[in-house]
Amino acid sequence: MLIKLHRGDLPADFTPGSSIAIDTETLGLKPARDKLCLVQISVGDGSAHLVQVDRTTYDAPRLKAVLVDPGVTKIFHYARFDVAVLKQYLGVDVGSIYCTKIASRLVRTYTDRHGLKDLVKELLGIELDKQQQSSDWGAHMLSEQQKKYAATDVIYLHELKSRLDQMLEREGRSALAKSCFEFLPTRAALDLSGWAEEDVFAHA
Ligand code: MN
Repeated sequence: MLIKLHRGDLPADFTPGSSIAIDTETLGLKPARDKLCLVQISVGDGSAHLVQVDRTTYDAPRLKAVLVDPGVTKIFHYARFDVAVLKQYLGVDVGSIYCTKIASRLVRTYTDRHGLKDLVKELLGIELDKQQQSSDWGAHMLSEQQKKYAATDVIYLHELKSRLDQMLEREGRSALAKSCFEFLPTRAALDLSGWAEEDVFAHA
């Protein structure tokens, strides 16, 4: 697995192609409180770019340009969180979203296990090690283990998407999935505006 660490922004020669897998690491699970530290991107070739963002300026023009490019599909696992964090810290409205967790919920109705580890195990037959999940992503020097963990969160997403797309097609739920993905920016905006816990669709 080839892992490239970049400080501040994507490299000038980065070319996304038609889709990227993307994930973020933060200092915690509350977007308003816990700063964005790392953005991981894979173009689907088994390698990963890790962008350690500047936590004072969040000045990353090349990264932001890719995130708002409607011609580039962004494949996330649990996009709801990442889209909110990217809006909060980079100020970008991420569009053209695909979420492997939503796709999984729409087709893998025979289980309630929709974590990345569960998907990668069942659909790709690979065991993931999630040990570094709660490590200090604010560290200036990330450990080799952290880098490997961060990269692992994006390198399987293209393959998962293609498996999940087949299942969505099989179950006749591709259009429903697409509508859910299109709603994600609104879901993230609700989270950032105080409706994180409250479901605006709920009856009571
Ligand atoms: Mn992650």
